[in-house]
Amino acid sequence: MGDNMSKRLKLISASEAEMEERAFPNLYPDWEQADPAADPEDHHDEPLDAEGQVSSVFQKKVQSKIKDLLQQMEEGLKTADPHDFSTYTGWTGIALLYLRLHQASQEALHLQRALDYVKRATRVLNGRKVSFLCGDAGPLAVGAVVHHKLGNEAESRDCLSRLLQLQRAVLSPDSDVPDELLYGRAGFLYALLYVNRELGGAVDQATVAKVVTAILESGKTFSAEQKKSDRCPLLYEWHQKQYVGAAHGLAGIYYLLMQPGANVHADVLSELVRPSIDYVRHKRFRSGNFPSSLSNESDRLVHWCHGAPGVVHMLLLAHQVFKEDKYLKEATECAEVIWHRGLLRKGYGICHGTAGNGYAFLSLYKLTKEKKYLYRSCKFADWCLAYGTHGCRIPDRPYSLFEGMAGTILYLSELADPQNSCFPAFEL
Ligand SMILES: [Zn+2]
Repeated sequence: MGDNMSKRLKLISASEAEMEERAFPNLYPDWEQADPAADPEDHHDEPLDAEGQVSSVFQKKVQSKIKDLLQQMEEGLKTADPHDFSTYTGWTGIALLYLRLHQASQEALHLQRALDYVKRATRVLNGRKVSFLCGDAGPLAVGAVVHHKLGNEAESRDCLSRLLQLQRAVLSPDSDVPDELLYGRAGFLYALLYVNRELGGAVDQATVAKVVTAILESGKTFSAEQKKSDRCPLLYEWHQKQYVGAAHGLAGIYYLLMQPGANVHADVLSELVRPSIDYVRHKRFRSGNFPSSLSNESDRLVHWCHGAPGVVHMLLLAHQVFKEDKYLKEATECAEVIWHRGLLRKGYGICHGTAGNGYAFLSLYKLTKEKKYLYRSCKFADWCLAYGTHGCRIPDRPYSLFEGMAGTILYLSELADPQNSCFPAFEL
């Protein structure tokens, strides 16, 4: 073997080793159009039936696993941190799971559980953060919705007015509130849009517009401060880094700004948001994955928080807003990366786990109606059915919505109605 050849092989195996360190090789066969001549009995194990819907056999497996995991979660939560009220790792995340289960099943018990958990959350708020995922806005927004569904209008209004009071901190020019989704203004904007979706416009457009303007101004100012020749008109940083992904970065912020409910003017979308999205697109790796930050050049993370599984949602919405195929094409390329590198060793969660990656396929399915994506989301669900058997890392908050079991249960529950699936605290 020539020297060059052996060097090349070494390089290849190094990157494969790196990949295997983070993800399990995906050994599931990919979607193929079923052979119409084949005996349908051969396909009884497949997750999709002849009509391309999730088969009743697979659906049953999923539903029984949901029951089993819910029991384990309830048991595990008995020792969870009583002061963690957050959507991300605390009580509000569990409330949100039950709210979603109630939507699907109409079972009163699920709504009651949602109420119990959100009450635990709103009792221990600390006024330190403003976002839906990690701040007071999450419990207050979910509280407003749960109370409303139970007919407790006074309590619902109280939550709503406390939510709106947070805008002082969000809008104050000398606040140190960042712009990203997890802790920042985009995370507060999500709370407003969520309440408006659930309670039919309870938050007035003037308030939404003020928050949107604050995000736009912050991005313009920071962009102007950069002395780069290739300017990104809306630029943001978090902890001195220009992150790209959905949780801390540009993709999450642009995704919120493009939401119809954010009512951003078409000129602003085309003059500021669109060129910013295109700027991020040019940072894409050859694999189709995206870097975790603009200065990062290693193609490693395939998580919702960092990488293609978060950016894909921005691309899909850009396709709907700007009606250009290049966005959809790159979204489908994200899906390839996620299919091959998305069964994560970090676990089965939503933020940086297999369930969160599965949501990318659900979103592609909702938009394209291609069975391939529903099939792939079922295969990622199938992986989650073997929860705990792959030797994955155990997260710090193992039962929580974004790190742990509650998120996996939520993902599994989406398969009952994939067309209405919704990544929590992000999709609208
Ligand atoms: Zn994460």
